[in-house]
Amino acid sequence: MSYWNTYKSVVLATLFFSLLLTSCSAPLPPPKETVAFEGGIMGTTYHITVVAAMNDDVSTAMAEAIEGALKHVDGKMSTYKDDSELSVLNRMAGGAYIPVSGEVFSMLQLALEVNRETEGAFDITVGPLVNRWGFGPDDKQEPPSDEELASLKALCGPEAITLDALTQSIQKVSDGVYCDLSGIAKGYAVDLVASVLEAKGFMNYMVEVGGEVRTAGLNSVGIPWKIAIEKPVDEGRVLQEVVGLSDISLATSGNYRNFYEVDGKRYSHTISPATGKPVDHNLASVSVLHPRCALADAYATALMVLGPEKGMAVAERLALPVMFVTHSDKGTFETRQSESFRAYIVD
Ligand code: FAD
Repeated sequence: MSYWNTYKSVVLATLFFSLLLTSCSAPLPPPKETVAFEGGIMGTTYHITVVAAMNDDVSTAMAEAIEGALKHVDGKMSTYKDDSELSVLNRMAGGAYIPVSGEVFSMLQLALEVNRETEGAFDITVGPLVNRWGFGPDDKQEPPSDEELASLKALCGPEAITLDALTQSIQKVSDGVYCDLSGIAKGYAVDLVASVLEAKGFMNYMVEVGGEVRTAGLNSVGIPWKIAIEKPVDEGRVLQEVVGLSDISLATSGNYRNFYEVDGKRYSHTISPATGKPVDHNLASVSVLHPRCALADAYATALMVLGPEKGMAVAERLALPVMFVTHSDKGTFETRQSESFRAYIVD
């Protein structure tokens, strides 16, 4: 008997954050004024806090600029909007070179770079597999047949696309090639909002979109932003760790929010390009720190694909500050943090 227990909640998928202002050390100065912006986008939510005093005109203008930046990325890189630049590209025939915008081209280039750095683990051409396993815009949540899997896998792999920097265009090797930027574009959206804030002179802020976070400067009481990372439990919110961040981004990927079960087997949204199937190792979540949120986002997905051993080896080779949380065989969680990640942990 198969049953579907689908947690397709795309809200803060892997990270709940609270701006933990308390600190148990010396008394803190009175908090400076902050302005908060929040809303919904990309099937999830965003929360932004800026340390600044803004009058109504400025805060309204900033709210519009932030929303405009997020909708801009949505309009370019969503696979959930039929009319996004990426969806139009995905429907086009293979063979000819197709010109794309500078932003989409740079995301495609960055994605191929991360693919090379992570031994093929991060692979945006897995889109047909993501969709067929039910983690894309359509909700068909049932495992594909072996034949289906083989035919979809044949459409994937970095050799399925070729980029031409001179004409800023992409060639798809065949019609069915379909790029999915969901593992990097939310991080890119966070970076874009950060650049909008800095262009207006705001240098102390925390930007969070669907669990991907970027911080700059200090929070309202003059200490690094305190960001909580949750334990990868299937339901509810349990604190795993708190990190103090300043001028760095944090992304967490996991297989405990976006999954379904069939006959007692769990299928999550992280697809192994090697097998064409959702990963099935015991890694529950990976948190990565990097100055660029787009890269933190992509590396977190890639390390989630690679699993606990290979993932940690690649993280060390790339000198990434990481935290891995794995399911132990005793039904508990085990945590492994790189030395460089531990330096960010605060109480
Ligand atoms: P991450 O680990 O960051 O990303 C996992 C996602 O990456 C998977 O969901 C899959 O899409 C992709 N992926 C899986 N395996 C690989 C791999 N090996 N290599 C590369 N990528 C892989 N969701 C909605 O429900 N409604 C929306 O309207 C919607 N709009 C979106 C618009 C944009 C611009 C983006 C970027 C995403 C949107 N999403 C939407 C998707 C939703 O936000 C995703 O679930 C989310 O981006 C996945 O992020 P994560 O942090 O949960 O997981």
